[in-house]
Amino acid sequence: MKKTLITAAFAILGVLAGVQPAMAAGYTQTKYPIVLVHGLFGFDSILGIDYWYRIPEALRADGAQVFVTQVSAANSTEVRGEQLLTQVKQIMAITGATKVNLIGHSHGGPTARYISGVAPELVASVTSVGGVNRGSDFADAVRGVLPDGSPLTSIVAATVDATLTALIEGLSGQPDLPKDANAALTSLSTAGSTAFNAKFPDGVPTSGCGNGATLVNGVRYYSWGGSTPYTNLFDPIDGPLLLTSAFFNGKANDGLVSACSMNLGQVIRTNYIMNHLDEVNQTVGLVSIWETNPVELFRQHANRLKSAGL
Ligand code: CA
Repeated sequence: MKKTLITAAFAILGVLAGVQPAMAAGYTQTKYPIVLVHGLFGFDSILGIDYWYRIPEALRADGAQVFVTQVSAANSTEVRGEQLLTQVKQIMAITGATKVNLIGHSHGGPTARYISGVAPELVASVTSVGGVNRGSDFADAVRGVLPDGSPLTSIVAATVDATLTALIEGLSGQPDLPKDANAALTSLSTAGSTAFNAKFPDGVPTSGCGNGATLVNGVRYYSWGGSTPYTNLFDPIDGPLLLTSAFFNGKANDGLVSACSMNLGQVIRTNYIMNHLDEVNQTVGLVSIWETNPVELFRQHANRLKSAGL
C-alpha cells in the first residue's frame, strides 16, 4: 500500500512536471481508480510476488489507475472494512477521484461491500471475485470442529495469529495490523455471513442462487468466480483444494467457496474452470490451459466498468 501510494505520488509529480505518464487512453481506462482488496491470509506483495499475480500491471498497461490495498490478513469483515475505508480515503486524496471501483477476492468481497454499505457515496462499483458472500461450507466445517468460545478454539486461533498471520503480515511489511483468526472464521461462516448480510444486504441475492440487485444507492455490483477445484497438475495448492472441495456436499465450488455464495449483483459467470487461487492468477500463473486466463478476465472487467461510465 505504502509503495503504491508513493508510486502514485511520483506519477502525479511527473504530470505536474510536464512528463506524460506512459499510458494511452485504452481498453482498461476506467473513469474511477480500481482498488484491489485481498482475501483471508492475503497481502499486497511478499518477496516480490503480488497476491494479484500480474493483474495490476496488466490493468495499468491499458490505462487503469490501480491501487493494491492491504488489510488484516485474518480479522472480521468489519475490522478489515474500516481499514479499507481509511485506505480508500487516502487513494481519493492522492488521485482527486470522487469514487473508486472496488474489486475484492474471497473475503475481500464482503470487505468491499462494507465500504459500499457505510459510505456508498465513495463507491462507483463493487466486484466480488470468488467472494464469500453467503459463507463457506469449509469455514462451517472448521467452525464445527472449533466452536466459538471453546478453549481449543482459543489456542488454535492464537497459534494461527502468532504464526501464519504474523508471518504473512511481517513479510508484507505490515506487522502491526490487528490479528484475529477466530473473528475471520466467524465472518466467513454461513451464520456470520448471514448476520453481516442483514446489515449490508446490497447486491446479495435474496433467495436461491440468482443475481442480486445490480444498482443500489448508486453503486453497481458485479461478481464472477470458478467452480473447478483442480485445474493444474503443477500447482501444489490444487491437491489441498480438491480435499477441501469435498466439504461442499456436491455443490459447485472452487475448493473454498460455493458458486452460489459468490453471486453478487450482476453475475458474470461462476463456472469458470478456475479454483479459488486461479481466480487471482495463483500460484504464480499456474492456471487451467483450457480457460480464459484470469488476467484477461480482469482486463475485460475493467473495460466493462469503463463502458458503464465507471
Ligand atoms: Ca492455480
